[in-house]
Amino acid sequence: MFENLSDKLDRAFKVLKGQGTITEINVAETMKEIRKALLDADVNYKTAKAFTDDVRQKALGNNVLTAISPGQLLTKLMNDELTELMGGTTAELELKASPTIILIAGLNGAGKTTFTGKLANYLKTTKNKKPLLVADDIYRPAAIDQLEVLGQQIGVPVYANRDSKDPVAIAREGIALARQNGHNVVIIDTAGRLAIDEAMMVEIEQVKNAVQPHEILFVVDSMTGQDAVNTAKVFNDRLDFTGVVLTKLDGDTRGGAALSIKSVVNKPIKFIGTGEKMEALDVFHPDRMASRILG
Ligand code: GDP
Repeated sequence: MFENLSDKLDRAFKVLKGQGTITEINVAETMKEIRKALLDADVNYKTAKAFTDDVRQKALGNNVLTAISPGQLLTKLMNDELTELMGGTTAELELKASPTIILIAGLNGAGKTTFTGKLANYLKTTKNKKPLLVADDIYRPAAIDQLEVLGQQIGVPVYANRDSKDPVAIAREGIALARQNGHNVVIIDTAGRLAIDEAMMVEIEQVKNAVQPHEILFVVDSMTGQDAVNTAKVFNDRLDFTGVVLTKLDGDTRGGAALSIKSVVNKPIKFIGTGEKMEALDVFHPDRMASRILG
């Protein structure tokens, strides 16, 4: 489906070698090729440019141009660099407190509710936790229904209060119930909107201030490209979230949003969503994402 960047670069370098001496201009052309590949992978322009400028310096320093397989060497160099830029290693959740309070934020359709269910399932099955879910969307009763269906599916209780119009109170009630029933993780699924909206931000800030979450996870659709980066920036400015969840990576995006978001907000990507099922959740591995971006 995608052209292999390593082969593409090898070919580009062969052409360059055929021309005799490799000049700075030729290198610039190759970097343009890399930048294009990154843009095709949904990396934003600023990030792609900063990255290629950096790789260019490193490539010259590493004698890439005289190597037998310059394309491969350059690809490895870029792979290492991308991995580092995306955090190097996996970023763990902070789960020491009991109950650990996790707030889920993001726009409608990003995959918040689905992720809330997946995270509970993951914590229950792999971390031996006893989670409670809180449906904190007072605008869409369907969102409460959706969370309840997921909760039933994975065998995790859901706290909802359909009569209340106070998200702060609902969150507090959920946490109180969790303490009472010995739940050591509370995951609060908040209301989103179709686009960023001041009322939504104020509401989620109020919930944050009231419950002092240990983790605030921002959920974003990896298919939304540049919008994903802009949305992440606005949410981070307001909420100072602790991690990012990139959903829908089972789609045909290369996942460049991972690199752009990390470079713009400088927060770790903690999980990726790879499907609609409750098991379709993976811890984020920067090295795997680097390979995926480069193809
Ligand atoms: P919310 O409005 O942010 O709570 O979003 P939902 O959790 O309702 O998800 C919106 C749609 O995206 C639903 O149809 C989900 O099944 C789907 N979805 C969520 N996560 C993923 C994912 O990782 N991959 C795919 N393919 N679909 C997903």
